Amino acid sequence: MTSKPEVLIIGGGVIGVAIANSLSRAGSEVVLIDRGLPGHGCSYGNAGWVAPGFATPLPRPGLLMKAARWMLDPRSPLRIPLRPDPALIAWLVRFLWNTRQERFIAGTRALVELSQYSLEAFEKLASDHRGGLDFQRKGLLQVALTPDGVTGLVRDLRMMEAFRVEGTVMDEEGVREFEPSLTGPVAGGVHYPGEAHLEPLEAVEALANRADDAGAQIIPSTEAIRFRREADRIAAVLTSRGWIEPETVVLASGVWSRPLAAQVGLRLPLFGGKGYSMTVDRSATALSTPVLVAERKVAITPHSGRLRLAGTLELVRDDETISPRRVDAIRDTAREVLALPEQAPIEKPWSGLRPCAPDGLPLIGRSRRVPNLIVAAGHQMLGLQTAPATARLVTDLMYDRTPPFNPQPFSPARYE
Ligand SMILES: Cc1cc2nc3c(=O)[nH]c(=O)nc-3n(C[C@H](O)[C@H](O)[C@H](O)COP(=O)(O)OP(=O)(O)OC[C@H]3O[C@@H](n4cnc5c(N)ncnc54)[C@H](O)[C@@H]3O)c2cc1C
Repeated sequence: MTSKPEVLIIGGGVIGVAIANSLSRAGSEVVLIDRGLPGHGCSYGNAGWVAPGFATPLPRPGLLMKAARWMLDPRSPLRIPLRPDPALIAWLVRFLWNTRQERFIAGTRALVELSQYSLEAFEKLASDHRGGLDFQRKGLLQVALTPDGVTGLVRDLRMMEAFRVEGTVMDEEGVREFEPSLTGPVAGGVHYPGEAHLEPLEAVEALANRADDAGAQIIPSTEAIRFRREADRIAAVLTSRGWIEPETVVLASGVWSRPLAAQVGLRLPLFGGKGYSMTVDRSATALSTPVLVAERKVAITPHSGRLRLAGTLELVRDDETISPRRVDAIRDTAREVLALPEQAPIEKPWSGLRPCAPDGLPLIGRSRRVPNLIVAAGHQMLGLQTAPATARLVTDLMYDRTPPFNPQPFSPARYE
């Protein structure tokens, strides 16, 4: 391992490996470390969607009212625990501020830009990658179980159309005709035809392989433990394999970026949005399009040979334990809308911590306090589908180039 690289990336999730690929292709000497195996954090078991029509920030108008109703339901799709934790309370106050309509629309515009760029980038990666990539552009079908739910989906579509994301409204009959596998109680929906999905771990591995081809050193089982600061810069990083003295540090450690950044006085307001996924043998259904069940926030994605079911967001610090009741709620929703047989075997459930900032936007950019630190964390429910754009932003920043989209909404300076 090079001990004085130009760039040290901490974290080998989809964000870190996408940056390693992009920076090494631009000519930087890159070392990436991960305390485990790259791609085995939150990037491992996600739904695999690359869906601009789904690119909204977590705080949205009306969400807190719904969350309050859901508080007492152990099977609800969202859980915000109320604890006397000052950091959590500060986070919730900021979150509430960001549920205003104008913040929601501005955040959506910014996230759609990142997602559209990334969708094209993944399509290109899939066609260039020598091992092939199971990238499918079959669209996304968002369905609702109630007329109110359909109204909400149509409202989102109208907003998305203003950002040039197209979709078609479907009534109950239209949904069933389009996707006959949905035999359960569906009131209608919206089909976004341009959306894609892929297997997330395969995407991380493809990006890591390309980074490796371009000269990046990707080192697993190596933990960043502490920073040595000199004046306003990080002079060295102590890792479980010794000191590394990079010129620039890129912090891409997902929700675990918060304790690392705190060591240099940077308070990243990141909490974990714990979600779950599980897989089911696909032979139980002929579903061909990824589906969102809107009211339950359950994502059902057909990957080759398997269906992945994903959902739930529980706000935690770093607790990854699995709640059987929430896993059952996800599975029961899929069974209900797809009429899956009771005996359809479900593989071992998985949990992941979505790194969530209170405004629902990732933090991407140089720290004002510590100029040789670049932060790339906080991608909430959209880390896969915004990874190539994040990498492009970081690379343009490093090379003093103007990025193809506005970097300002993502600046970590908003929390410094
Ligand atoms: C149920 C669920 C479904 C989802 N579905 C989608 C989807 O369909 N599309 C989408 O775009 N997003 C989805 N997401 C969100 C997406 O998974 C995340 O936004 C994304 O994985 C975040 O990537 P990351 O690289 O920032 O973090 P991670 O993948 O968590 O990577 C961080 C890495 O940092 C490493 N690390 C931490 N601390 C250290 C340290 N001290 N030293 C060295 N390494 C360290 C960890 O080992 C880890 O590998 C979903 C998430 C969940 C939970």
